[in-house]
Amino acid sequence: MIKTQQMTTFHIVTLFPESLESYLQASILKRAQADGKIAVKYYNPRDFAMSVEELAKADGRMTYAERRVDDRPYGGGPGMVMEALPVMRAVEAVLKGTKKGKSKIIFFSPSGEQFSNAVADKFKKYTNIILVCGRYEGIDARVKKAFPMVDISVGPYVLTGGELPAMIVIDAISRRIKGVLGDELSVEESRVASPDVYTRPETIEFKGKKYRVPKILLSGHHAKMDEWKKTRKIAK
Ligand code: SAM
Repeated sequence: MIKTQQMTTFHIVTLFPESLESYLQASILKRAQADGKIAVKYYNPRDFAMSVEELAKADGRMTYAERRVDDRPYGGGPGMVMEALPVMRAVEAVLKGTKKGKSKIIFFSPSGEQFSNAVADKFKKYTNIILVCGRYEGIDARVKKAFPMVDISVGPYVLTGGELPAMIVIDAISRRIKGVLGDELSVEESRVASPDVYTRPETIEFKGKKYRVPKILLSGHHAKMDEWKKTRKIAK
């Protein structure tokens, strides 16, 4: 019996889907979507800013941009906080449409668990990965009480939004899904990989100075080349 490979769907909850689209529609990630290895869907909390009853009441008098998705923080402080309900309704809409397969919800936060290859390997087992992107001062914390979520940070710095973290997570998970990279061995940890790489021509000249490819890489001696690559990695 032929076992069909499952597709991983990334569901991104974001106020700014346009900030993600160009990256996800280029190169390997574009091909992965065309090949049915991954799929990407967007959910804008602004679409869920009002309940069905509120929408009926507004009766078309409110423009899309006027739909409120943020408010001032309780306890004072600068900036705005993303309201809980529009995000909760967006996550609920994702879960309603993804009855099949296992789902994981990721909440982006600079103080979350550090994302890594090991975490990517854990996440790639899920059929549906829901990525909740904060903006401004973050999202009302009650969202995390309504759904089981894991807090993820992509590094020890604060970004303006969760969209870049979402792209990092999607990229890192996707390249570890079988068949996404042309060659299985392209995943760095499965081979000896060097941080310094070279391609043709063997010698280049720039502003009167010659730059050559290290001789060892032209030797054809695989054991020695691997040894050299390992030392480059250690040196870094
Ligand atoms: N006030 C929040 C705090 O102190 O944790 C930071 C809010 S940050 C300006 C806006 C949003 O960007 C966050 O809600 C989160 O979704 C995302 N974000 C910023 N830096 C991040 C990081 N290093 N890793 C993951 N998400 C991050």
